[in-house]
Amino acid sequence: MEFTIEKLVRENIRRMTPYSSARHEFAGEAAIFLDANENSIDSPVHLVVTGKDSSLQLNRYPDPLQHELKEKISRVKGVPAENIFLGNGSDEAIDLLFRIFCTPGKDNVIIFPPTYGMYEVCAEINDIEVKKVPLLSNFQINLEALEQTIDQNTRLIFICSPNNPTGNSMNREDVETILNNFDGLVIVDEAYINYARQRSFIPELTEYPNLVILQTFSKAWGLAGLRLGMAFAGLPVIEYMNKVKYPYNISTATQQLALAALEMVPTVNNWIQATEEQKSRLQKELGALSFTQHIYPSDANFLLVKMKEAKKVYDYLSQKGIVVRDRSRVKLCEDCLRITIGTIEENNQLTDALKNYPA
Ligand code: PMP
Repeated sequence: MEFTIEKLVRENIRRMTPYSSARHEFAGEAAIFLDANENSIDSPVHLVVTGKDSSLQLNRYPDPLQHELKEKISRVKGVPAENIFLGNGSDEAIDLLFRIFCTPGKDNVIIFPPTYGMYEVCAEINDIEVKKVPLLSNFQINLEALEQTIDQNTRLIFICSPNNPTGNSMNREDVETILNNFDGLVIVDEAYINYARQRSFIPELTEYPNLVILQTFSKAWGLAGLRLGMAFAGLPVIEYMNKVKYPYNISTATQQLALAALEMVPTVNNWIQATEEQKSRLQKELGALSFTQHIYPSDANFLLVKMKEAKKVYDYLSQKGIVVRDRSRVKLCEDCLRITIGTIEENNQLTDALKNYPA
């Protein structure tokens, strides 16, 4: 299948001239910067990052292309820095893909529900039709239905693996079949990959020019509050994402905090291990409850649990101050709650509450 980026890009995006920041235009070494209308004196707050000798001043604009941070992510992820895009959460990358590759009122994208809600929300914001190909009852992709659904205006296919809210990874061969046969972009959202038994699609990036991988600092890295997401893709895709993004989309604070976090790989790995242990424990304890009907296998940091009258269980837990995600009205997830793996103490409270549930 031939992949030509220029055929995919919206005409106005292809033709436009991107914003050129002050720092873009000057390439030499300089000591005095009077080019960006910042406050040259100081910032009222200084950020102290663990491991840094001095505090960071925030009165200057950040590096628009986050070179230092991308170099470090490159070493951790094994992806060349030029193949990395960083966004304000992976949600920013999702939105940009619509704005770059889909013409409003004309093009469409395909999603496999039940899945992460932002694909559809971003499509609606951008006035792009969403074609839905429901997952099979085993939560895998229905390739035959997909083939029938793709048309000449289909630009993007979103594959969430491990999938939210079902928790399973998609069959690798199915993803490869789609990558080999679709001439638009295939977005593999790996937000939960650190918890998966299946390996990332990152090694396949060199093979498939139509592959975009999304990962995030919001899950295993413990930085949901920071808002930092990653997209890995071929150079032409990344170049368009850089062309359309806000010039300074990642703050200095975020860049510096993420650099510090990337020193903590062993700690993050310990947390992943601890989450796995708590997941096994919850699987056992929730499985022993009389009103639990099924616990789906999970490659993520949450469990999808089918319970008798799930909405009642949800209301009961809410009254006890424990919030889980009620997915009981979602097709294929009828009577299901999605429960994030908590700390040992949080899980104790959850299981204590459920043991006392008047089923
Ligand atoms: N993808 C999936 C599958 C998710 O579940 C989430 C968050 N719940 C995101 C992306 C968004 O991540 P971020 O915080 O990086 O925007």
